[in-house]
Amino acid sequence: MSQPERFEILILGSGAGGKLLAWHMARSGRRTAVVERRWIGGSCPNVNCLPSKNEIQSAKVASLVRQGAEYGATTGRVEIDMAAVRERKRRMVDEQIAAHLRNFKATGTELIMGSGRFVAPKTLEVQLNNGGARMLVGDRVFINVGTHAAIPRVPGLEAARPLTNIEALELDYLPPHLIVLGGGYVGLELAQAYRRFGSRVTVIEHGPQLMGREDPDVSESLQRILADEEIHFLVGAEIVRVDGRSGNEVSLVVRTISGEQKVAGSDILVAAGRIPNTADIGLDKAGVELDARGFVHVNERLETTAPEVWAIGECAGSPQFTHASEDDFRIIRDNLAGGARSTRDRLVPYSMFTDPPLARVGLSEAEAQRQGVEVRVTRLPISSVLRAQTTGETQGFMKALIGARDDRILGFTMIGPEAGEVVATVQVVMLAGLPYSTLREAVLAHPTMVEGLGPLLSNVPPRTE
Ligand SMILES: Cc1cc2nc3c(=O)[nH]c(=O)nc-3n(C[C@H](O)[C@H](O)[C@H](O)COP(=O)(O)OP(=O)(O)OC[C@H]3O[C@@H](n4cnc5c(N)ncnc54)[C@H](O)[C@@H]3O)c2cc1C
Repeated sequence: MSQPERFEILILGSGAGGKLLAWHMARSGRRTAVVERRWIGGSCPNVNCLPSKNEIQSAKVASLVRQGAEYGATTGRVEIDMAAVRERKRRMVDEQIAAHLRNFKATGTELIMGSGRFVAPKTLEVQLNNGGARMLVGDRVFINVGTHAAIPRVPGLEAARPLTNIEALELDYLPPHLIVLGGGYVGLELAQAYRRFGSRVTVIEHGPQLMGREDPDVSESLQRILADEEIHFLVGAEIVRVDGRSGNEVSLVVRTISGEQKVAGSDILVAAGRIPNTADIGLDKAGVELDARGFVHVNERLETTAPEVWAIGECAGSPQFTHASEDDFRIIRDNLAGGARSTRDRLVPYSMFTDPPLARVGLSEAEAQRQGVEVRVTRLPISSVLRAQTTGETQGFMKALIGARDDRILGFTMIGPEAGEVVATVQVVMLAGLPYSTLREAVLAHPTMVEGLGPLLSNVPPRTE
């Protein structure tokens, strides 16, 4: 092995926050390298967010075409060509990769394709994808290695070679009966997409409800909406055994309170949580400690237990969203420039891209209760928003949590069209610390979904004091 090569900034993994940090540092003249083993630009543009939303859009088109007659646009039978769905997605991913490569080049960041592992503090050995190895030392090192899909320990499951999101988004055939393990956002988005392509779909959720972190009214509404599309659910269900092989024939023994039953299908998709990519990368040799679940132990400035080493994104236990990883970058960037930013109390919204989508910012009712925060709650059915009447997308509701003794908005949840965009409007009001009446009295364009915030916030119960 040659002498170690020195970089001012050395980043392991080209995920959402890591690549932004690399480009920023390289642009400001620092010698910067990023080590990436496979996905240029991380999992979001390659195998997670963007490809899933791309295929979800194909599924939405299929669904709209099927409903055409309702809107006065009659068409023939809908045929799904999964190879074409995949091709459309692949084109977008290729464009994303090309754009990333242009950015690495334009900023002067060296992108090193290979698998990195620590062999000493701040020192990485990289097995290069095209053969050979390099030893790299960083003055400052950043770990942004992400997570991978967990395969629950169930007899026969691993041997059944289940799909994860990566393979599910690469299928060129339509599974006759897809069994989805996991009722979180990854599982539900793909369950609905495949149902709309034409698969029979069964979702099996271990916990007592879908979307375990949401309030029961949210989870129930969502389950009803998806069940209307004939997606089958087994909730509070334990998988006892799996037989067969995904892509061919599979059979699951599932236990619920009503006893054991057999579920037979053609393919299994596992969407049951994520495991950090922190095993076997020599973190012990780098002085970087992990927590009990294998996430890098960081403080609220994302500093690890090793000096001059930071962790970013999912591997650091940050909320599992691209925008959280990107915000990790901003926190580190600002702190390195002398700031004092922290991950504590940041407002991280999320949106699940089912149709209709579910989005939330701030507290749920259950969280407010757990934290002993007294709130006033107001709800509005989406059917009473005039925009929804025009589009015919009337399912779902909005819910806002307002302080019991002040007029701050503490949380907002929505199931309904454009939920992610509406949440952003509420988020800005929350960030500005404005009272809910600002939004209630705002002149909002008609007819839009945001307009629903007016009537929603006109029904806030009076303060308790
Ligand atoms: C199906 C799916 C859909 C999703 N949709 C959304 C969405 O709509 N919106 C949203 O905000 N979030 C979504 N997410 C989550 C989102 O993809 C991640 O939170 C986001 O990509 C941030 O990841 P990261 O920065 O932590 O790391 P990643 O982007 O995962 O990057 C880590 C990188 O490190 C590389 N790597 C790992 N180990 C090594 C090593 N030893 N050597 C070299 N390289 C290594 C990996 O190859 C990878 O490229 C989705 C996730 C899934 C699974």
